[in-house]
Amino acid sequence: MSQSVELEKGYFGEFGGSFVPPELLEVLKILDENFNKYKDDEEFINEFKYYLEEYVGRETPLYFAERLTKELGGAKIYLKREDLNHTGSHKINNVLGQILLAKRMGAKRVIAETGAGQHGVATATVCAMFGMDCTIYMGAEDTKRQALNVFRMELLGAKVVAVSKGQGRLKEAVDEALGDLVQNYENTFYLLGSAVGPHPFPTMVKHFQSVISRESRAQILKKEGKLPYAVLACVGGGSNAIGSFAEYLSDKEVRLIGVEPSQAATLTTGTTGVIHGFKCIVLQDEEGNPKPTYSIAAGLDYPGVGPEHSHLKTSGRADYVAVTNEEVLEAFQVLSKLEGIIPALESAHAVAYAMKLAPTLEKEQSIVINISGRGDKDVEQVFHMLEKN
Ligand SMILES: *Cc1c(COP(=O)(O)O)cnc(C)c1O
Repeated sequence: MSQSVELEKGYFGEFGGSFVPPELLEVLKILDENFNKYKDDEEFINEFKYYLEEYVGRETPLYFAERLTKELGGAKIYLKREDLNHTGSHKINNVLGQILLAKRMGAKRVIAETGAGQHGVATATVCAMFGMDCTIYMGAEDTKRQALNVFRMELLGAKVVAVSKGQGRLKEAVDEALGDLVQNYENTFYLLGSAVGPHPFPTMVKHFQSVISRESRAQILKKEGKLPYAVLACVGGGSNAIGSFAEYLSDKEVRLIGVEPSQAATLTTGTTGVIHGFKCIVLQDEEGNPKPTYSIAAGLDYPGVGPEHSHLKTSGRADYVAVTNEEVLEAFQVLSKLEGIIPALESAHAVAYAMKLAPTLEKEQSIVINISGRGDKDVEQVFHMLEKN
């Protein structure tokens, strides 16, 4: 397993912890005990592995992007193809791990929050596969903007609850889901979507997403005979990035680079605060309220970030950079044209920074970009954005 920088239970340096009401703390403690019991259990590990292979389609290739490398004229560029997973992104790794845990814990129903709908769809997918009752909380505003994802979840057999309290966005959906959990914890499992939230979620999500770097590290050693100069991933809550970094944390010579949107650049411009039950670097106003963010990639539109990334940033082990919407749109098109791979707009953030970095490096060096998801979901949006220009 990867070397963890978790210093004491649920803390990464000063970040993390559980800032929640006592009744919720009790529920999280039971979850933590079960996670620790099963994560090293041989049967559990084998079952996770079985579904990753047979259902998700792992392992995903580490693809040498030959034409992009030539075009940029520097380091060799490798793409970790999480876009090839069933349902088209890395999210399935985490929801699969958590639903296997939910089954072990005897849960009869699964609940989840979703913003743009991607985590809701992933959760509804594994619930369908395991025949679990599934309820997805979604802000009423978001259900309007993402009507097709609501329909997807319903097709997969989930019940979507539109939350119209407050602004009718992700925050209210999280509050509603937590309320449901406190009332129904005896038969209900809360399946969280990123490396955020109170302990043990950030640790658990990292554990299930680490399969990305476990594979990529072995793959690059096989192809190049040495470790890469850098590993790059986009950062929203931070789950695909922490999964891409995990196995390289103790390889001090490997640079770890997280890429954020310039208009939701939590780690580049945020300050320490508490959001959604944990301490992290967060975009907030003077009163400590989360600031509104904007990203053309819905999955990166979050004012907080996982506690481990907050620690990796302040300790200097990882670097975090921001790219503009124009750079992202350019990268989206370049990868499509040169490699025949249409990336998710989220993933295009990592590609955009790689396009600046690679030409500054030597031809003997290599970099790994995590392609967190495929771009089919974004094609219509990009069509309209390019039409406007
Ligand atoms: C949800 C999502 C993200 C952002 O979430 P992280 O937890 O930061 O990984 C990135 N890329 C894709 C394709 C997504 O669906």
